[in-house]
Amino acid sequence: MSSLFSNLNRPMKRSYKLQRENMVDRQLKNRGITDESVLDAFNRIERHRFIEESLWDRAYNDSPLPIGLNQTISQPYIVALMTQALELTGEEKILEVGTGSGYQAAILALLSSQVFTIERHGELAKTARRVFESLGIHNIALRVGDGTIGWKEYSPYDGIIVTAASPETPKSLLNQLCEGGKLVIPVGGESLQKLYLYTRRGDDFDRKTLCNCAFVPLIGSEGWNNDS
Ligand code: SAM
Repeated sequence: MSSLFSNLNRPMKRSYKLQRENMVDRQLKNRGITDESVLDAFNRIERHRFIEESLWDRAYNDSPLPIGLNQTISQPYIVALMTQALELTGEEKILEVGTGSGYQAAILALLSSQVFTIERHGELAKTARRVFESLGIHNIALRVGDGTIGWKEYSPYDGIIVTAASPETPKSLLNQLCEGGKLVIPVGGESLQKLYLYTRRGDDFDRKTLCNCAFVPLIGSEGWNNDS
């Protein structure tokens, strides 16, 4: 079992249901997350299951949290904003780049038909896979690799979410969107980025800015080129 997650098979000490409801009311609804299916998914998916037990009491805080290897589980509001931007109906095929803890993928799995997710760190991928299994989530396919080039085999996608920040928008990801498909991605410098929402219109891509944000770097052939 991964050293990052040694507690999965232990019985849950607390359900954290009340904290989750407060998170949904105060952090999501109060800031303009209105999609009822998105709010419901955040009530159903237990965020604490995606982090180490020593951090469980902070699981429903309004912040990112460490998941090892200098990576983070994103702030709940940002996960909700990115998810809502895809306007999911339940039928979609989604690609996520940057599995991390698996929390965003699990939310997407509830709201769409099939999720493909890519993580560059094998150890994080292994832990996330174990959490999906323990929660009985079966519509997520995970692979270890460079997500900046997408996952062409299963393209085109109705939605793509990139959960790490890129200096530019990877062309491979835009090209793997279906007609009308949406890509949400943080783009900018290493410490501050803009969260963009692209919508494919033929060979063109409408772009809207959702907010400023600060993500860990997207490292790969169409992202940043090294850990420094
Ligand atoms: N979605 C995650 C969650 O719900 O926990 C948050 C992920 S964290 C903010 C960003 C992740 O992107 C890290 O796990 C990092 O290793 C991963 N990453 C960075 N560059 C990548 C790449 N080129 N391909 C795949 N994953 C990448």
